[in-house]
Amino acid sequence: MAKLYFRFGVMGSSKTANALMVRYNYAEKEKNAILLKPKLDSRDGEKIIKSRIGIESNCIFIEDFLKDVEDDKTILHHCSCIIIDEAQFMKTKQAETFAYIVDYYNIPVICYGLKTDFKGELFEGSRRLIELCDVIEEIPTVCWCGCKAKFNARISEGKVLRDGEQVQLGGNESYVGLCRKHYMEGVLSEENRNNR
Ligand SMILES: [Zn+2]
Repeated sequence: MAKLYFRFGVMGSSKTANALMVRYNYAEKEKNAILLKPKLDSRDGEKIIKSRIGIESNCIFIEDFLKDVEDDKTILHHCSCIIIDEAQFMKTKQAETFAYIVDYYNIPVICYGLKTDFKGELFEGSRRLIELCDVIEEIPTVCWCGCKAKFNARISEGKVLRDGEQVQLGGNESYVGLCRKHYMEGVLSEENRNNR
């Protein structure tokens, strides 16, 4: 039976590189893995998923894909796997639709995303994925102190920001992964502190 996966990690944990590698592995075996992302995330321009390490790939917006599937379910017959990047930005209903696709079409759906926002609270999509998924896996990375990074701090002028909208798209310069202690204290690495 296919499964619904949620692979989460903080900013800078190579989630996107992982997603692109899984896609590559499917392609190498001549299998069709569909790469999706939410429309909201236009950080890397239109319909491109790009990793920090330089690899990138074309993708389809989740919204467009689900609309196409609604119009023609046979699309799913040619699909070996669905890979979703930035899955934290999914709506509850979208996460539920992907769970349905796993169960009724036996297609694995692998979601990559952040678990919590810069306030340390669950994103809508992440919450529903945690509730629904068969497999939850953490992609680990470390805080500047060497402990496991679990929180996404939004930073500006060498300081940790506590207020603002949940979604404010930015690259690596706006966010940094911290351990709980340093997230709570708001203590950044010397490099981040000096980066004003
Ligand atoms: Zn730390």
